[in-house]
Amino acid sequence: MSDHDIQHFILGQWRDGAAGRSLPVLDPADGQIIGRVARAERSDLDDAVAAAQSGFDTWRNMTALERARIMRKAASLLRERAEHVASLMTREQGKPLAEARAETAAAADIIDWFADEGMRVYGRLVPSRHNLAIRQMVVKDPVGPVAAFTPWNFPINQVVRKVSAGLAAGCSMLVKGPEETPASPAALIRAFADAGLPPGVLGLVYGDPAEISSYLIAHPVIRKITFTGSTAIGKQLAALAGQHMKRTTMELGGHAPVIVCDDADLELAVKTSVTSKFRNAGQVCISPTRFLVHRRIAEEFAVEFARRTHDLRVGNGLAEGTQMGPLANARRVAAMDDLTRDAVSRGARLLAGGERIGQAGNFWRPTVLADVPLDARALNEEPFGPMALVRPFDTLEEAITEANRLPYGLAGYAFTRGLKNADLLTRHVEVGMLWVNMGALASAEMPFGGIKESGHGTEGGSEALEAYLNTRSVAIMNA
Ligand code: NAD
Repeated sequence: MSDHDIQHFILGQWRDGAAGRSLPVLDPADGQIIGRVARAERSDLDDAVAAAQSGFDTWRNMTALERARIMRKAASLLRERAEHVASLMTREQGKPLAEARAETAAAADIIDWFADEGMRVYGRLVPSRHNLAIRQMVVKDPVGPVAAFTPWNFPINQVVRKVSAGLAAGCSMLVKGPEETPASPAALIRAFADAGLPPGVLGLVYGDPAEISSYLIAHPVIRKITFTGSTAIGKQLAALAGQHMKRTTMELGGHAPVIVCDDADLELAVKTSVTSKFRNAGQVCISPTRFLVHRRIAEEFAVEFARRTHDLRVGNGLAEGTQMGPLANARRVAAMDDLTRDAVSRGARLLAGGERIGQAGNFWRPTVLADVPLDARALNEEPFGPMALVRPFDTLEEAITEANRLPYGLAGYAFTRGLKNADLLTRHVEVGMLWVNMGALASAEMPFGGIKESGHGTEGGSEALEAYLNTRSVAIMNA
């Protein structure tokens, strides 16, 4: 078996699917098959759900301190194994090794933070308005077994945010992992298992996403759904969850605006934007995409952005010095090609990239398009790839209107030296996360999530724990 042959994890056991079926896993740098991932049958899912129920019964009856000790041990095992885990991630997903290392290290920090935060899940005592002999309590309980659906772009981060918050709240977690990048999330699950997590508290299955989600969402044992992926699929899953009255957290697509005001530090704006745009080859829900730049500096910004983009070293993520790896799958290369052609045919100026590199693997040259017309598809659909779109604006109000034009509301960025501009942007840009004069800096302690069609709920901060808790009220008469 290779490190990329991955099984399900059900009731504390690694096992193949009941019918022995599997799916191939490809190296995005050369298209070669590097392993196979097990494919779950209905009977595997039955077992996984039963395990999640028994795991919940065990886990919810442990103290928060006992849970925290196991979680902290998992974090420390992950740190010990980080180098190996990062190389698995780069091989299956494509991102440069430095990014895979950072993602793994951040995952360990996220586990630690939630382990501690789980010890601060408090209720409240509320004085009665009627009678002082009545003790009124607000009680917080874990919602129950949770089904978590995670994508391929951050194979570990997308799992660890959900799992850490859910476990800290006392829930059991059944993860449907990403079939295209299964090995690194499996390594994360293994760290929890080796840390002594009781069987059933954490499960992992792979297979046909639609089949698994329709089964798990409808299943009476599953009490909550958390999904990260596209808005289109998120709407389908949220609708299904609604039919079964299940709680949901939806972390969906984005199309982040970057507003560069005329008083911005231009060098900072360009440098920060290039780094943040091409991180993980732009396959990031919070990736900056619509660069709205004050007309006075728009051309200078675009030219300098394109120059720095042109200089990026694109290559195999495992090679020293690579700044951008291949795209994670062939679908993204096709999407970049379609969106670039469409934008150019509508009059956009291609300043950098815009073509595939070689024939082996999913390499795409990082792309900068200027003067992109509003009807270009790329300005309306989430590109989810290494593509920057630049447009000039004349007034801040106009830029804010454009930023808010799309149904997405995930991340936004701005560059300005002015307090008044920063204040206006904070008040009026409709996003769940806004970064001013900096790139995205997601951390365990800050909320992470969108508004509008980018979803609801948050995956960071103490708010993330609330998503896995029921709030109940109890009154006792001291008779
Ligand atoms: P996709 O929409 O087919 O899949 C996106 C994710 O949802 C994948 O992980 C997939 O396994 C999962 N999925 C698909 N159908 C599902 C179903 N019925 N039930 C449960 N899970 C399901 O597209 P794709 O080609 O894999 O990814 C491209 C698009 O997905 C991008 O354009 C982007 O909008 C979105 N995406 C977003 C994120 C994010 O971080 N928010 C991550 C990955 C992909």
